[in-house]
Amino acid sequence: MTDPSTPANAPFLVPSDAAERRAVAPVICYPNETLPRVDLQLYRAARVSAVKVDEVLVPARDAATFKVPAGQFFRISSVGGPQVGDLNLWHAGDLKERFYSGKTRALHGSHLTVGERMWTSLPYLRPMATITEDTLGWYGIDQYGGSVHDVIGTRCDPYTGNLLAGSQYHYCCHSNLARALAAETGMSLAEAEPHVHDVLNVFMCTGFSRDTGQYFMKASPVRPGDYLEFFAEIDLLGALSACPGGDCSSEHSSDAAACYPLLVEVFKPAAGALGDWDSPARNGYDQSHGSTQS
Ligand SMILES: [Zn+2]
Repeated sequence: MTDPSTPANAPFLVPSDAAERRAVAPVICYPNETLPRVDLQLYRAARVSAVKVDEVLVPARDAATFKVPAGQFFRISSVGGPQVGDLNLWHAGDLKERFYSGKTRALHGSHLTVGERMWTSLPYLRPMATITEDTLGWYGIDQYGGSVHDVIGTRCDPYTGNLLAGSQYHYCCHSNLARALAAETGMSLAEAEPHVHDVLNVFMCTGFSRDTGQYFMKASPVRPGDYLEFFAEIDLLGALSACPGGDCSSEHSSDAAACYPLLVEVFKPAAGALGDWDSPARNGYDQSHGSTQS
């Protein structure tokens, strides 16, 4: 962004009605009142009956995978110290269906909290996980425009590090997620890497600076004991990286920050606790795209 008084596209003149044009009120791109309703009451009632069936400790500066069948819950907890996590989710039976950060952002906004959902990629576009508990829900939006659990960041990766600093760092979230997915599936690293996608930045506190529009991060408000909990709408394969940025208060893509593990736990509700709940069907668009080909 540039100072409107010195436009970057000079010598074009600022039009006489510039102020008027800037004053046009925005409209929400995707009013979301018509999204399928989230029945938090049902989920929370089912959660009361749930028992822990699995857990995995994600080591600092590394990633781990976990599976959550549709109808079960998973919780990501801070343990040891403030730590940010980069989350990838896939349909457990088809890696082509995976979390779609951009559309989730378009539907819910830049940061997610209770009652909001992670949506899958086209052409599936259905809810894959619904956030049911968020102990950082109190944070809201701070004086800098920052908030937690963003879907605006991508994931730290060694290519951007190389571009900006010429580095060869191997424990960025992108690499951690690729190694973990390869180990889980038996794919080679080269096969697994293209399945890694833009993340939900769990516990990360981020926003855009008002003066330059740049993506910023600041020390996460997360403390040990805080957690984010999800209901799995479809069968999920997850991978979580404990970011080398630690609490992301200063830098990432290096071993400089203090880093801590993250705990993932899976909970299974009692039989019948979800009533007639059913896993959502894939998107109903017919995929003909206006073509006359049969
Ligand atoms: Zn990272």
